[in-house]
Amino acid sequence: MQRERRGIQVKIPGDVKEILQTMESAGYEAWCVGGCVRDSLMGRTPADWDVATSALPEETEALFPHQAVPTGLRHGTVTVCTPKRRVEVTTYRVDGPYQDHRRPLSVHFTASIREDLGRRDFTVNAMAADLRGRLEDPFGGQEDLQQGILRCVGDPQQRFEEDALRIMRGLRFASVLGFSVEEDTARAIRRCRDLLKEIAPERIWTELTGLLTGCQAGPVLLGFPEVLGVFWPEVLPMVGLDQRNPHHCYDVWSHSVHALEAVPPDLLLRCAALLHDVGKPACFTLDEAGTGHFYGHGPVGCRMAEQMLRHMRCPSAFRERVVRLVEWHDRFIPPQHKSLCRALRLLGEEDLRRLIALKRADNLAQAPAYRSRQKDCDLLQAMLEDLLRQQACFSLRQMQVNGRDLMTLGLKGPRIGQMLEALLTEVVEGRVPNERAALLAWAAERAHPKEDQ
Ligand code: ATP
Ligand code: MG
Repeated sequence: MQRERRGIQVKIPGDVKEILQTMESAGYEAWCVGGCVRDSLMGRTPADWDVATSALPEETEALFPHQAVPTGLRHGTVTVCTPKRRVEVTTYRVDGPYQDHRRPLSVHFTASIREDLGRRDFTVNAMAADLRGRLEDPFGGQEDLQQGILRCVGDPQQRFEEDALRIMRGLRFASVLGFSVEEDTARAIRRCRDLLKEIAPERIWTELTGLLTGCQAGPVLLGFPEVLGVFWPEVLPMVGLDQRNPHHCYDVWSHSVHALEAVPPDLLLRCAALLHDVGKPACFTLDEAGTGHFYGHGPVGCRMAEQMLRHMRCPSAFRERVVRLVEWHDRFIPPQHKSLCRALRLLGEEDLRRLIALKRADNLAQAPAYRSRQKDCDLLQAMLEDLLRQQACFSLRQMQVNGRDLMTLGLKGPRIGQMLEALLTEVVEGRVPNERAALLAWAAERAHPKEDQ
């Protein structure tokens, strides 16, 4: 059923309207479709605008001779460049049978927007809007949008069997849009989860990053841990593991998810929060009083987190930083100038800020009686701000001498770097001031120890 709604209209930007107009004037149908319609109806700014059309790709190319780039002709996509953006214009299509739970063997063009909407993943993604404010919504996407429900178009199990990535897309949309997953869709997600083994880890990772930084990541992670368990089996023993410790009122997984919810939506920090206690199941011991302990879970967890992120093929610099936060999360940083400078040297300002945020979140996700540790974090935070204001020296860049200065003392090759690091240690430890003369004197003494004797 085609509905005309006057109240809620999709506001199409001028340059996209021009594309639709050009196509309609030439006798074709053209609609804005998918994410841009969904986001507009939700009052969000769409990331990109996609167009679906009855025109064949070569017909679209002919209509925009100076703007068209044939980006995905096999799938019927022509990218039309406007001064403002790149708009993907795709011929109405239906997908042929799927292979390997990943991709259709073939795609066929069709004359109907309805059929095109029918191949799309979720009802809220299967709406189209045209120039006159008409909304094509054959699967009740608007109603689901209003109620905050994520529902498959058609039979959920079949849709996930066709393309298993939709499982992760579904969880990502639920998290980002703050939607709940409709019951049949949720059941099919759980039932089909093992098909994710067929999907390249990089593609899962892209969806997972969206999920983890979404506004409702918590409920999604609590609701579907077994899905993450397909590519991260390390998650499974965390789920339901009673910590048997007065500090904790949650099992390890819920604690980790609550910690994730308590940090800002920064991917690095959210990964560290989710994985900070991944070492706990392997380190669990009970003392005679029946209290649970997790000695050594930091280093163990850091090796596990490393493996997990390697498996997802995420960039190594990112992985190393997450792993370092996992390693440090439980380390005590004494509230002293020197200790903070040491931490700043090893982590850098950004990641020390993240570490403090992680410690805060870790504590907030503990039993209420132990949340007073927030004060320790406040103190660290205040001291950090002080140190930065005073321009305390914690990196080679800030030192009042550099490699060239050391060369004038006769140092060469790797010894220059070693000496700079040694000097930085002296400064950080407060034994030598960050002043040129003092640093050079200290270095000269060690550069030529024999001459001094
Ligand atoms: P966003 O760009 O915010 O991630 P989106 O909905 O625009 O969300 P895209 O990946 O850009 O998502 O895809 C555009 C549209 O194409 C979707 O709205 C959906 O209709 C359709 N789509 C994308 N991927 C799939 C898929 N794997 N299966 C079915 N339909 C899909
Ligand atoms: Mg999009």
